[in-house]
Amino acid sequence: MSDCLFCKIARGEIPCRKVYEDDEVLVFHDINPVAPVHFMLIPKLHLASLMQAEDVHAALLGKMLLLAPKLAKEQGLNDGFRTVINTGRGGGQEVFHFHIHVIGGGSIPPMVRRS
Ligand code: AMP
Ligand code: ZN
Repeated sequence: MSDCLFCKIARGEIPCRKVYEDDEVLVFHDINPVAPVHFMLIPKLHLASLMQAEDVHAALLGKMLLLAPKLAKEQGLNDGFRTVINTGRGGGQEVFHFHIHVIGGGSIPPMVRRS
């Protein structure tokens, strides 16, 4: 996807504050953090959202999920963290390239505010 923001970051065309990289996954700090630590894991291949994930993506998704706690610990989140996957417009997704947010440090508010 030539005009996808996160594909451009994955290709190195747009800079990021890198946390981790291998041949399949890139992890970088969110440009507009909601907590002291806020980074995102993305696959290098373009996958628009979790709704587009198929069986062929199972190993990649599992790898990303297992990477999250390792990197969270490296970033100092020894006490825990929140993972967020916004999916589709109904899920509040803004960048349509699958990503897993890892958020922590400081006090984390309830996940969903109840009225
Ligand atoms: P979502 O609402 O789940 O699609 O989250 C998209 C996230 O991408 C937001 O938290 C943005 O702050 C973040 N973001 C947007 N542009 C950039 C960028 N160039 N570098 C790092 N993070 C970004
Ligand atoms: Zn993309």
